[in-house]
Amino acid sequence: MLTGVKIAVIGGDARQLEIVRKLTEQHALLSLIGFEQLDHAFTGATKEKIEGVDFSKMDAIILPVKGTNLDGQVDTIFSNEEVFLTEELLQKTPAHCIVYSGITNSYLDSIISKTNRSLVQLFNRDDVAILNSIPTVEGTIMMAIQHTDTTIHGSKLIVLGLGRVGMSVARTFHALGAKVKVAANQSDHIARIIEMGLIPVQLEDLEKTVGDIDICINTIPHLVVTSNVIEKMPLHTLIIDLASKPGGTDFPYAEKRGVKALLAPSLPGIVAPKTAGNILADVLSQLLQEGLQKGKEQSK
Ligand code: NAP
Repeated sequence: MLTGVKIAVIGGDARQLEIVRKLTEQHALLSLIGFEQLDHAFTGATKEKIEGVDFSKMDAIILPVKGTNLDGQVDTIFSNEEVFLTEELLQKTPAHCIVYSGITNSYLDSIISKTNRSLVQLFNRDDVAILNSIPTVEGTIMMAIQHTDTTIHGSKLIVLGLGRVGMSVARTFHALGAKVKVAANQSDHIARIIEMGLIPVQLEDLEKTVGDIDICINTIPHLVVTSNVIEKMPLHTLIIDLASKPGGTDFPYAEKRGVKALLAPSLPGIVAPKTAGNILADVLSQLLQEGLQKGKEQSK
């Protein structure tokens, strides 16, 4: 139980509602900032304007998956108002206040460091990233179906990267009957690709292996689908770039050549916000309870 724990939930999309539901069920006291257009009400959660919130009492701040932008603005799907997380505001929180976000950026890192607060990046955790790869793959399948006129079964596909998302993508498209190549750098990844019954490609040889590809799915947050690679692809190739913004594709060159390339961020929030929200809610509830326990032990 999180009885009496005070948490500011700032902005976010439908995923955040699952977090609010779960934390209020555990009797946490929530200030919802950037939710004034939300019709639903939760017992224990109050919709507030950021200026009206007493941050000196906050035990935790929960940001959306993206955290803030580089100016400190937080996305607020359920509000027309602009909401910013500032250094001044963080400074008002008690020293034990922890900020939870999906990912971070230089702005968020900087205000966290200047105010000496702690930041937990939920997507750095393997459990969250692996579970989140499930709705990500389902969204990728949706995009592949929407943007091709052939079946996935029998199509020639290349997945770039064998991290937590790449592995789930490669395995699922293989199970759907696609002929799957996977490009990676590390020898253990190449070994795993062979073990999975897929075709291994050294990333440096990418240009040589895309000549017959129908779908290219990138998970590497680094420019790997370069103009040289795109030049060797058939014109009908569909590139789905899952890597975080700005992706790993030379989009201007793809457009110039007439190859369809789509940057596809936040698929879990689009195709399965409830599942994606529950993944975050479960881990947040566990982390907040652990924090509470630690605080109690320290005060003994
Ligand atoms: P991950 O486990 O860290 O995997 C990243 C992969 O990229 C690894 O295979 C890594 O190889 C490779 N890589 C990273 N930098 C590289 C470089 N400079 N050159 C070559 N290879 C490189 O990450 P993940 O959890 O799978 O997530 C992958 C991306 O998808 C991230 O950008 C994440 O934000 C994004 N994502 C998007 C969605 C969506 O809805 N679109 C959903 C979830 C995640 P090494 O291990 O050898 O470095």
